[in-house]
Amino acid sequence: MTGTLRLWLASCFLMASIASAAVRTERMDENTSRDWVRHLVPLPKQIELAGQVLVPADQIVVVAEGESHALVSQAVKELVEAIGAEHSSAAAEKFTVKLRVGGPLAERLTVLPHADQAYTIGREEDGNGLLLVGGGPRGVYYAAKTLQQFIRAGRKGDTIALPAANIVDWPDMEDRGLWGGDSYNHLRWMSDRKLNYDEQIAHNGVDANKRPVINLGGGKRKIIDEGPTYGINPVPVVLHLEQLSGSGLFDAYPELRGKDGRAGSICYSNPLFVNILAEWLLLWRAEPGVREVDVWMAENLQGEKGCQCDDCRREDRNVLEARAIVAAWRKARETQPDLGIRILTSEETEKSNPRIFSELPTEVKIWYYHSLWTYNASEKPMIRPYLAELAARGRWVGVCPNLCANVGTWHPFTCPQFVHYRINEFVDKKLSGFIGYAVPRLAHVRFNTEAAAEWLWNAKGRSPREFAISYAVREGYAEPKLFADWVEAHGPVAWDIYGSDFPAGHQRDFPGKLAILLREGKVPNLGEELWEVYPLPWGDIKTPEQLADDVARADRAVKIAEQMQIPQYLHESRVTQGYIKALEALWTLKALVRNGMVSASDKLKATEAFAAYAAGLEQARTALADWEPTVGPAEEGVPPWVNKPRKLLETMIEEMNALARDLGCMAGG
Ligand SMILES: [Zn+2]
Repeated sequence: MTGTLRLWLASCFLMASIASAAVRTERMDENTSRDWVRHLVPLPKQIELAGQVLVPADQIVVVAEGESHALVSQAVKELVEAIGAEHSSAAAEKFTVKLRVGGPLAERLTVLPHADQAYTIGREEDGNGLLLVGGGPRGVYYAAKTLQQFIRAGRKGDTIALPAANIVDWPDMEDRGLWGGDSYNHLRWMSDRKLNYDEQIAHNGVDANKRPVINLGGGKRKIIDEGPTYGINPVPVVLHLEQLSGSGLFDAYPELRGKDGRAGSICYSNPLFVNILAEWLLLWRAEPGVREVDVWMAENLQGEKGCQCDDCRREDRNVLEARAIVAAWRKARETQPDLGIRILTSEETEKSNPRIFSELPTEVKIWYYHSLWTYNASEKPMIRPYLAELAARGRWVGVCPNLCANVGTWHPFTCPQFVHYRINEFVDKKLSGFIGYAVPRLAHVRFNTEAAAEWLWNAKGRSPREFAISYAVREGYAEPKLFADWVEAHGPVAWDIYGSDFPAGHQRDFPGKLAILLREGKVPNLGEELWEVYPLPWGDIKTPEQLADDVARADRAVKIAEQMQIPQYLHESRVTQGYIKALEALWTLKALVRNGMVSASDKLKATEAFAAYAAGLEQARTALADWEPTVGPAEEGVPPWVNKPRKLLETMIEEMNALARDLGCMAGG
């Protein structure tokens, strides 16, 4: 717990003396106070609890003062829903919850970072109510979110226990959100955790009449229809610019097709593309609540070039692309001066990023993305020095990292240590935004996503352990501290495994298939990472001691999970334990297989190790299938997401068994 939680026991007595007869005030000890705060996510920056009041639900009145704002009305609506009772006019007593934007009490908020999102909660002077003040409408909305968490935790029949709280709170990072996945189905869930941003890939095309058209299909449209209601900024995406082939762009305007370049590349020397992009931007700006568009730069030309016309080939393709985006934005701003623009980088643009950024107008917001460098679970810094320098100089720089173990090869990954590490790096380096990739579905990564919401708001508040306890309290787990013990045993092992890209990295060409590497004596050393991007199989496990410690932790995690009796975490523990035991066996084998052979004296030991490797992977394979249904019901017609890693493990087992047979080390063979 942080030092910001202080108890004002003395003031409890004062409060008791001035509160009305109908509202009973109880004194609060330190443990009760800590329990209350564990119901909050994220943890407020400054919070003091001075006793608690017991209020009949039908005596609570929620009032918004001053000018009306949609978000303040929504705050009132959500509070009334949480209270679950209309104020009864027959009730003699009233407990008033007042909401206010600005005013004298908001002055202290104006000096805080992101003041429009900041808020205070305090007691009314007569002790018979609470006053929620926001630096802006969103601040009021967030004050109401905090109070809703207290109300839901404090409900006892028709009475609600409420802590007499003094809170001053503000976020560390301006934009906190997600992109893709099914996040559009969880906007209220996101907003309850004070996330405020969602972006989705949109269709930006040209129709048969050569007119630019836009569309946000299926559920993704919810970011526009519902996002602003919940204080979530909806941002449509113009997909990676080399991937517009299916959009009708080249059918309508074949002259825009890049000359002799990679299929899909665009000729940026033809001003026509700027006009079309500007039209798309304006069409989006016309949608309710849309103020910005994110244009994703080309992701991967796979070693090929962009347009090779006389004008394009003289300049860096990435720089030309950035100039085209800026030109389109400027053109659109002639009609819509408040239109905002973001660009998302890629591995294709990485080498040109410093030059692109030096040319970009300061209003252009930058999302840093790189398919290898921002999509990984490795325990190493993600923000390159040139980006950190840019952010330190005050430029708007955000990042697009994954919250899952691996993008594409789905695994359970309950790991606050990982999320805490990542987000503290981002906050320390003064990043302004975060769009997490919570996939395949938010349900699969709910814990890590909530952890992201926690630390994006308050990076220096809770420790990973304290967050785990608070999560367990909010989820209603029987033994929150036991859950935290499990997280502490399990998290570091899972992080070491997935940070090493095991087993997903086995699908890449580098460093190669483990059975082949083993036969050829080329299995990397512990801690090795090929070209700083391919850590398979144990780049994040630096020493034999760390490996042994991970094995012991994984065993402990399984035991704690058995005690907890929450199937989700038991299956997850078994996945992790299976993997780390397989890696332990591989480490043994690396010493025993020499020049493609195993000596006669090592045969027995090697046979056991080959069997342990296969058994570990088989355990993980089984546990993956058991785990997935525990995160929620399967969607109709969607095969299990864990089919991919399970198929991969099957192949890895077969390949290693084949080597074992060749070396005369197959158990029972
Ligand atoms: Zn060209």
